[in-house]
Amino acid sequence: MVRRIHNFSAGPAALPLPVLEEVQNDLVSYKGEGLSVMEMSHRGKTFDGIIKSAESLMKEIMGIPDGYKVIFMQGGASLQFATVPLNLLPENKFADYINTGSWSTKAIQEARKLGKKFNVIASSEDKNFSYIPDNFKVDKDAAYLHITSNNTIFGTQWQKFPDTGKIPLVCDMSSDFNCRKFDVSKFGMIYAGAQKNMGPSGVTIVIIKEELMNASPENIPTMCSYKVIGGKDSLYNTPPTFGIYIIKLVLEWMKSVGGLSAIEKINREKADMLYSAIDGTGFYKGTVEKNSRSLMNVPFRLPSEELEKQFIAEAQKNDIIGVKGHRSVGGIRASIYNAVPVDSVKALVDFMRDFESKNG
Ligand SMILES: *Cc1c(COP(=O)(O)O)cnc(C)c1O
Repeated sequence: MVRRIHNFSAGPAALPLPVLEEVQNDLVSYKGEGLSVMEMSHRGKTFDGIIKSAESLMKEIMGIPDGYKVIFMQGGASLQFATVPLNLLPENKFADYINTGSWSTKAIQEARKLGKKFNVIASSEDKNFSYIPDNFKVDKDAAYLHITSNNTIFGTQWQKFPDTGKIPLVCDMSSDFNCRKFDVSKFGMIYAGAQKNMGPSGVTIVIIKEELMNASPENIPTMCSYKVIGGKDSLYNTPPTFGIYIIKLVLEWMKSVGGLSAIEKINREKADMLYSAIDGTGFYKGTVEKNSRSLMNVPFRLPSEELEKQFIAEAQKNDIIGVKGHRSVGGIRASIYNAVPVDSVKALVDFMRDFESKNG
């Protein structure tokens, strides 16, 4: 058996073992073709099959309705912070943003840098981003409303998406993409860096309503244009071929375990296990409001920073890695994305109980 550890990293993050094994098996000679996916033309027949399957599996698993385009882009979710307003926010209009954490803040900063007009219609900054605001009104003339569905650093998640009517809802789903079933038709656009729930870093998934895609202005960088990249089926230039291949395998794995409903059920079990372990003691303390808790990123504190340091060091000795909180907030954070096995969460909970009994 190859050594595998309990990986709670926030991103890049754990991938399903069957996916890694299949990649390993086909790495040097893809399906016996005599070359690796990394070495083949993005315009050849084999890669064409891979990218088309990735797209169609995505549509199938997520129930993406007709009239939406799946695009594979580069530059991470961070480039989308600029790409969204470049494409969807004309000079004479403004957008609404909701600020729920560090990534939302960065999305807002990019719109500001571009000299775009926008309003921050709600924010949870007053309580250190420990909740998801529910008291706001989307302007009926906004070009879009931008939200971050899951706040990776603070550990909050929208439990129910806002109903924006005719205003396109644009969502950064980087850290909870496909962690649960949801209705894609409620969104104008969804984007996600692949490296948390869907694959390796280097690919960004964009799902966009075709009417929005086709509205991209001409005077923006070509590589940022949804109309150009989407219009060329993600093959305007060389796409991140190997990453797209792995996304396809991750989608196949998702389908094989029962699709989004099954994955959501397991994710809820994992999260319940961990939150119960936190709530069951006075030793560990959750940092966010209970009704805003994330299924994916679980932050908590110990009685002192000393103990947190010790916790992280001893966890590592038990093959539990990636549990250090983001440098901007400290504490502990366990990221329990789709590919983190239930057994890893059990191992973490056991370790937490043991650590408490020795130090509590
Ligand atoms: C990780 C993350 C990002 C940044 O993604 P990159 O692909 O590294 O640019 C943006 N938004 C959210 C919600 C994230 O979790």
